[in-house]
Amino acid sequence: MATAISSIDMIGRLVGFDTTSRESNLALIDFVRDYLDGFGISSELVFDAERRKANLYATIGRPDRAGIMLSGHTDVVPVDGQAWDGDPFTLAPRGDRLFGRGTSDMKSFIAVALALVPEFIAAKSSTPIHVALTYDEEVGCIGVRGLIARLQGAPVKPRLCIIGEPTLMQPVVAHKGKKSLHCRVRGHESHSALSHAGVNAIEAAAEIVARIRHLARDKREHGPFDPGFTPPYTTIQTGTIAGGTALNIVPRDCRFDFEIRFLPGDDPDAMVAELRRHAAAIEPDMHRVSSETGIEFEEFNAIPALSAPRDSEAVQLAQSLTGANGVHYVSFGTEGGLYQEAGIPTVICGPGSIEQAHRPNEFIAFDQVRQCEEFLRRLIARIAGA
Ligand SMILES: [Zn+2]
Repeated sequence: MATAISSIDMIGRLVGFDTTSRESNLALIDFVRDYLDGFGISSELVFDAERRKANLYATIGRPDRAGIMLSGHTDVVPVDGQAWDGDPFTLAPRGDRLFGRGTSDMKSFIAVALALVPEFIAAKSSTPIHVALTYDEEVGCIGVRGLIARLQGAPVKPRLCIIGEPTLMQPVVAHKGKKSLHCRVRGHESHSALSHAGVNAIEAAAEIVARIRHLARDKREHGPFDPGFTPPYTTIQTGTIAGGTALNIVPRDCRFDFEIRFLPGDDPDAMVAELRRHAAAIEPDMHRVSSETGIEFEEFNAIPALSAPRDSEAVQLAQSLTGANGVHYVSFGTEGGLYQEAGIPTVICGPGSIEQAHRPNEFIAFDQVRQCEEFLRRLIARIAGA
């Protein structure tokens, strides 16, 4: 039995599920599946290996046609250690804003799309609308990869995709990619008085870290540059480091993590290759003391950059629905690079601001919710009867 729910009420329902990335998102997914089922729309769930989390994929309209995919991630970042004025998982309207974890990033877009399902159905369009909800976006765009694998094997895949990440309803066509790596340095322990008998893992790591710093400076000074981004060049930095046990012991282990945020078209693998060469140049000295020593790199996450061609149907559609002439770049990564790589032209356009995302007292302005409704109603008008 179909029950219509307003956008605001739907935001409240979705915010009410604690879908912090470490938690299961199945309660939210079940709720959405049941809601869609009430309108006679079936959902396909693509689970993770433990069946603790799932992506949801549903099509409103003809399943044999390639339609327009509205995509959003269901997970939110933790509220741990943040000072919230109220319960982050209870939607709280105050003034012209709605407060709650995920209001901007990015449950409001999902909620508005779901609230308008009856209108999408009533449009009786031959262009279907696909709803794609994912998990674990906030921890490296993990969940969407399973959904994409599923779409690759399907007889029809979406013609284009709109991801409703918070962009204040402006079309965003590009973001940087990201590659994250562990580096593990294995040295050789000895008494610090006998340092000649040891291999100092921290100092070897420091040489690599210094090389990372050098690469960062090189990108900053010599580019490539793209003025659409802030900063307009590829960046690389070491984010965490740990090593050693006591001051009077030559440290055996040191590990650090670093990340590269690269411009579309720039090659992060070339930077990693240079670091590997640098490591290989240090290792012979380490091996002279012990063959057990060495330096290992392990890539643990990679998100491709997004760069949607200005003449792509996705970009043109978002521009005409928002009335925006220009296009924007953002500094945060999204699932868009992965969709684009899978051959689904993608644009980012959603309500709320990234400024509020991940922060205590995250909110969305009512006006943004209204603008998102208008955007999707214009989409409905566009595809109605066509
Ligand atoms: Zn997000």
